Amino acid sequence: SRSRLKRLLCLPRARAELDLPRKLTLWPDNLFWKQIMTDKPSAKDALHPETLMMSHGYDPFLSEGAVKPPVFLTSTFAFKTAKDGAAFFDALRAKERDKNGLIYSRFNHPNLQIAEERLAVYEHGQAAAVFSSGMSAIATTILALVAQGEVILRSQPLYGGTETLITNVVSKLGIQTHSFVNGLDHGEINDAANQAMQLGRVAMIFLETPSNPTNTMIDFSHIETAASNIESQQGYRPIVVCDNTLLGPIFQKPLDHGVDIVLYSLTKYIGGHSDLVAGAAIGTQSHVDTIRAARSAFGTQLDPHSCWMIGRSLETVNLRMERAAQSALKIAEYLSALKNVTRIYHPSHIADTGYQNVFTRQCTGAGSTFSFDVAGDRNNAFSVLNRLRLFKQAVSLGGTESLACHPRSTTHSAISAELLDELSVGESLIRVSIGLEHPDDLIADLAQALEV
Ligand code: PLP
Repeated sequence: SRSRLKRLLCLPRARAELDLPRKLTLWPDNLFWKQIMTDKPSAKDALHPETLMMSHGYDPFLSEGAVKPPVFLTSTFAFKTAKDGAAFFDALRAKERDKNGLIYSRFNHPNLQIAEERLAVYEHGQAAAVFSSGMSAIATTILALVAQGEVILRSQPLYGGTETLITNVVSKLGIQTHSFVNGLDHGEINDAANQAMQLGRVAMIFLETPSNPTNTMIDFSHIETAASNIESQQGYRPIVVCDNTLLGPIFQKPLDHGVDIVLYSLTKYIGGHSDLVAGAAIGTQSHVDTIRAARSAFGTQLDPHSCWMIGRSLETVNLRMERAAQSALKIAEYLSALKNVTRIYHPSHIADTGYQNVFTRQCTGAGSTFSFDVAGDRNNAFSVLNRLRLFKQAVSLGGTESLACHPRSTTHSAISAELLDELSVGESLIRVSIGLEHPDDLIADLAQALEV
């Protein structure tokens, strides 16, 4: 209508009349949680993340009453005065967040900020930085925190893309890596730490737990001990970074176990609908500030529309992950009784006391991505995959739909055959990501594909 259009067009002036500081678009004083936070500093913790996902960091009444945040499709933000522009740039350089205003969408924009605030809440982090992909989050974090001549101690296996980044790209920048395979073995981790220190100053410990595709786990307490040993020998504590894509933010919170920075492919469970590509780094404010500065330099931030979708997805991540995990457990139980399934790599079906101790100490659920070996070789695995009807054959995981793939010939094909053998990523291994279909329908699909 005419009057609505008029009101919309008047909005900037109305805001100016109210003299609202620009950052209050996101942090208005009348916002419920902000009030209780101001009154009682610990009150934010009294609200559950599920509750905060609906409102945290956004006030409808500064956006025409829109219950959902608008998508701020703008590359740049107007300064009221030249002095403001200069002050915002000064604050950006000095990393003074309180004085910082919106400048340019490569540095920050409202949808990015809402997604970051909500992710930090869920992960128990002080701050988050959101990226254009999981790989850009990983690459930006490594390049922001590790310098030429320094060393990364890292677990194996890592996601294939991370392996490729480390072995083909990061290595060319004069950054060496040293790895350990058994994350439950204190001795192996400490030996690897000692060998890594022979190569140079160990600046980072990079972990992925549970690992993709076999769900091996790393004991965070062994990592904390290794970081302390390294610190006492080289006089600098390495920054511990963990890719939490498979279980976070619902079933595992590495920041509560001594990890400094959590990394994500938000493309997976957090995005959750296989309709976007995004990533995140979450941790202490000072680490995230350093990572954000590198992100601004590289331009690896996420666009407003995808950030909006991340906010939408965070509202249901708890429900989706809980339900998918229940279905995955039921399916793993079904598969475990079959003769032509020879091994299952579902956390609840890995019969090793050390593994189970770490699993129960560090995780509150098993997630819904796991692998299993079928009897026979690659041809048998391919035949099973080709017979699936409900499961789609695709890489990726954590979407509403169930997916299946053959890791050795797809996601992990860049890794040497010797290492894949050592990591139990064999020719007969099939990885599934269980979605939100009825579990009985998925079991029926697997039964016909496995010719039970
Ligand atoms: N980390 C893990 C564990 C992954 O599975 C993936 C992608 O499959 C990535 C990182 C990379 O994320 P993206 O594809 O969003 O760049």
